[in-house]
Amino acid sequence: MAGGHHRQSGAPGVTVTRGTTNRNARGGSPARRARRQWLVDTFGDGATVGCAFGCGAVLTVDTVTADRYPVPGCNGGTYRRGNIRPACGPCNSRHGGALRS
Ligand SMILES: [Zn+2]
Repeated sequence: MAGGHHRQSGAPGVTVTRGTTNRNARGGSPARRARRQWLVDTFGDGATVGCAFGCGAVLTVDTVTADRYPVPGCNGGTYRRGNIRPACGPCNSRHGGALRS
């Protein structure tokens, strides 16, 4: 007799984001600023950083945007450190424009 086969369906903490950019996943404003500062520190000299797309734009913590790379948002990439690189606004929106909702 095999009883008690209790199985909760679904795994906890699994979130599937598809197609849309989840605003909550990007964090609040202070977190985003800290992330931008991290980009400038890590990829630049702490004050300025070049656009990763090579357009020649010089960005600061106020103008840099985070491009999800190497795993893009459409492949489930997140904005966590290690999956972002600095990009200027025009390059970033051109790159991920299809994801806007
Ligand atoms: Zn650019």
